[in-house]
Amino acid sequence: MRTTRTIVAIAAVSLAAACSGTGGSDDGDAGNYPDDNITFIVPFSAGGPTDTVTRMIAEPMAKELGVKIVVQNKEGAGGTVGAGEVARAKPDGYTVLMHHIGMSTAPALYKNLPYKPLEDFETIGLVTEVPMTIVARKDFAPATLPDLVTYVKANAGKVTLANAGIGAASHLCGLLFQHAAGVKLQEVPYQGTGPALTDLVGGQVDFMCDQTTNTTGQITAGKVKAYAVTTPERVKSLPDLKTTAELGMPQLQVSVWHGLYAPKGTPKAIVEKLSNALKKALANQAVIDQMAKLGTAPVPADDATPQAHRAYLEEQLTTWAKIIADAGVKAT
Ligand code: ASP
Repeated sequence: MRTTRTIVAIAAVSLAAACSGTGGSDDGDAGNYPDDNITFIVPFSAGGPTDTVTRMIAEPMAKELGVKIVVQNKEGAGGTVGAGEVARAKPDGYTVLMHHIGMSTAPALYKNLPYKPLEDFETIGLVTEVPMTIVARKDFAPATLPDLVTYVKANAGKVTLANAGIGAASHLCGLLFQHAAGVKLQEVPYQGTGPALTDLVGGQVDFMCDQTTNTTGQITAGKVKAYAVTTPERVKSLPDLKTTAELGMPQLQVSVWHGLYAPKGTPKAIVEKLSNALKKALANQAVIDQMAKLGTAPVPADDATPQAHRAYLEEQLTTWAKIIADAGVKAT
């Protein structure tokens, strides 16, 4: 799903990262690790897309590591509350964060972010990259994406756009939509797009962007109206849904990558152990099948590494800082 330019950037920075020895603190070894339950922090609500991806890989990773993995939802402020908590956790491998593209967008959107993505975390590995869809409540008037643009411009004061808080993927996608359409809408923040989608199905909000891992079931069941998918190619699991580019909005392209993080200073041997367990989980056929049904796939094994993840994070921090600045969005 990544562009060639990105892959080249990853390759270049991977090399630099490998040379500078990223992927955990050199002090200490894995010892008996793990000999206790590991907690995976999800910085968004239970039942949402980040939560879904986390639970998909937690079980096979737990099997591989021989301990339980407890998934905890620490939602708030577009994912920054949970991420901040992991940044301050003991670097012993027992607290791990699953985060998404928000790790690379938040620094440009928050003036006082309580962590620094590159300085406060060890990257463990990339997990998956998920397309987004633009969806609306079933009885929302516009029929197509071009209709949606016309409609929201004419009704800007009353249309509501749901998101999972500043810095969340849905917020970012909503910003790009508003920028492309040339309109400013009333945004309704939730703690995650799990509850936002529930409200959308219930008709309490008008529309939003969300990952296919959350919307596929509702789209195929006809419970929401789907306008477009925000990736260059259509998604196999939703073959009739056109892309934003096909519908005249090529500048609205965003897919949501996920990665696992440990607090800075976690011993390298522990980070490697977690990364190897992640790789095994991503090769698990049940995980591959589950992801395919929801419009996504595991990253290639080489990307489920601390080095490739760090390189991608570095590239994404630069990319999104520029996109956000170019869109005229100011940090709050
Ligand atoms: N999809 C959400 C977002 O907008 C996150 C979530 O609830 O998983 O970032």
